[in-house]
Amino acid sequence: MGILPSKIDRSSVTFQSELAFEGSLDVQFPSILDNAERSFSFDEKDWVHCKFKLQGSTLECSASGEMIETVLLDKNFEVLNEQGNSLIFTVKFVTKDNTSQQWKLRASSADEFLKWTSFVKQSLRAEWSLKDSCECCKSKFGVFTRRHHCRACGRSVCSDCSPIMTTLPHLGYSALVRVCKTCGDMLAHKRKGPQEGNSPNYTQSKRGNSPTKQNKAKTNYK
Ligand SMILES: [Zn+2]
Ligand SMILES: [Zn+2]
Repeated sequence: MGILPSKIDRSSVTFQSELAFEGSLDVQFPSILDNAERSFSFDEKDWVHCKFKLQGSTLECSASGEMIETVLLDKNFEVLNEQGNSLIFTVKFVTKDNTSQQWKLRASSADEFLKWTSFVKQSLRAEWSLKDSCECCKSKFGVFTRRHHCRACGRSVCSDCSPIMTTLPHLGYSALVRVCKTCGDMLAHKRKGPQEGNSPNYTQSKRGNSPTKQNKAKTNYK
């Protein structure tokens, strides 16, 4: 990537191209119960010690010197759940030959668990675009219209087009960060699904059609 204007504070942001990390994790490879439906079954005893190398947007997995899989950290990749007590997290992804896959990964310590889960999520963050005008409303950036970045899609947007502050746990943002209207609406739509009660940061609807039954909503509309 090119040289960035000094005005942009990059200190709190890690870009996927900068991430590199390696270590080992135990893996449970599932048996496929139903190939059409892609349902998976994990045998709790069956852990394989694997080496992992995270580099940019790929995660290489090898065991006994043999490459097992190069996992693409793309839009299909997701950390499905994290069990901090047992140091286990489950990931889903789509392989190069286009089949969906799930693995259970177990870290060797709480420290390693935290590193792997946060690095993997950070590597899913979009790089920030550096446009001269807002990618939503096309307003030119300048003294009065400042450039901001949506933490979900990375686009350059003005403050009017990014009025939403929310957590993005799937990208490792646990504090409120700015997102654009498009991403905010998409997130609100997703979180209004059947599991909304379980969602750690259930979104209040902007349209006001969902009563504020919980005050733990972590999305703010300015
Ligand atoms: Zn705008
Ligand atoms: Zn966005």
